[in-house]
Amino acid sequence: MIGGGPAGLAAAIALAQSGANTALIARRTPYADNRTTALLGGSIDFLQGLDVWPRCKDKAAALQVMRLVDDTGRLIRAPEVRFSCDEIGLDTFGYNIENGTLIAALEQRAAELSALTRFDDEADTVNPGEAAVAIRTGQVKSLSARLVVGADGRQSLCREAAGITVNRRDLHQSALTFNVSHSRPHRNISTEFHTPHGPCAFVPLPGDRSSVVWVSTPKEAERLIALSDDELSNAAEKQSHSILGRIQVEPGRHMFPLVIEQPREFAKARIALVGEAAHVVPPIGAQGLNMGLRDAADIADIVREAMGTGEDPGGPQVLKRYASARRADVASRTFAISIANRSLLSDFLPMQTLRAAGLHLIGSIGPLRRLAMREGLSPSWRPTRRVI
Ligand SMILES: Cc1cc2nc3c(=O)[nH]c(=O)nc-3n(C[C@H](O)[C@H](O)[C@H](O)COP(=O)(O)OP(=O)(O)OC[C@H]3O[C@@H](n4cnc5c(N)ncnc54)[C@H](O)[C@@H]3O)c2cc1C
Repeated sequence: MIGGGPAGLAAAIALAQSGANTALIARRTPYADNRTTALLGGSIDFLQGLDVWPRCKDKAAALQVMRLVDDTGRLIRAPEVRFSCDEIGLDTFGYNIENGTLIAALEQRAAELSALTRFDDEADTVNPGEAAVAIRTGQVKSLSARLVVGADGRQSLCREAAGITVNRRDLHQSALTFNVSHSRPHRNISTEFHTPHGPCAFVPLPGDRSSVVWVSTPKEAERLIALSDDELSNAAEKQSHSILGRIQVEPGRHMFPLVIEQPREFAKARIALVGEAAHVVPPIGAQGLNMGLRDAADIADIVREAMGTGEDPGGPQVLKRYASARRADVASRTFAISIANRSLLSDFLPMQTLRAAGLHLIGSIGPLRRLAMREGLSPSWRPTRRVI
């Protein structure tokens, strides 16, 4: 395993728990930004199976209602769409948690597993060979593995070593993230305001707090990040139409240029990619890490099955099974997110009409709305894999 972000740590735990002798090459550094993750449906079950969820669930906020509000101010506007978890018989869609808190719980669990050896280091070179991959670390340790799982993020060395090329599309948008406290309760409702430059989401955190992901043009994001605390508090309150009352920003802001990245393959030359090494999508519909956790669950499951039958875990058949397990999920979500984003930004009137009509249908036709909710949580056609 190379890379100790949330997807890499989850994959390392799942692999070690499934009996694979696992080495994790990842620096132990404090989590560097204030992103939060809305963990949906199966992600919670997966983290429960890893014995990670009990360590952090008290610090997460339940998400029971999701509102989409058209705030484009355009002539043709979509009606508000409200998704409620009780409509599909659930107590919650999922939970929003600070990434730093999730990482701490993952790190704690990873440290307990005897099948998991941690190298507090980084991979310097990764060389795939016929029977194994040779890895050299920054502290000049040489390791060899029949399978390398690359969870080394957007600039993945593993991906490059496997010779996997990437389709990259710059969206000319940036996401500003910060957390806020507010005078009115959020009542576990997440609200996404759709502006002509991207969505601005207020997602519940425990107490009277929310995380904000504000997508805009890079220039506007630069302006917002440079505001004083009071100015940004006022701007956020205005953007939220005061639904949360008075808003006060907390220390810490970060900016993320938005891109879509689609590697041409998920696995090659004894290297399988998980997390953002395998897919980067903009923060619309809270899909990125949820997909990354499904990558982690699938690679661990496929490796366990392969070891059970004496198969080489890095062999071409195993890599092929992993790629086919992940392809449709990642491709369909990347496509849906890209379309949702484009339809929001488009100044083309027929596109705006189509978007408004689509949201109107989802908002008013119960079975369609319930289908959208279930598909948003996880793909319905995904085979039920054993809980690891
Ligand atoms: C604003 C924003 C909001 C988001 N909100 C959500 C959400 O609500 N829900 C959701 O599901 N997703 C969300 N996402 C997506 C989610 O944050 C990412 O999918 C996730 O953080 C990626 O995790 P990762 O482990 O794949 O990558 P990373 O966190 O980038 O981890 C990669 C790790 O690999 C390490 N590394 C790199 N190279 C090497 C090397 N050579 N050797 C060793 N280590 C190496 C890096 O140091 C890093 O620690 C959001 C994203 C953004 C930008």
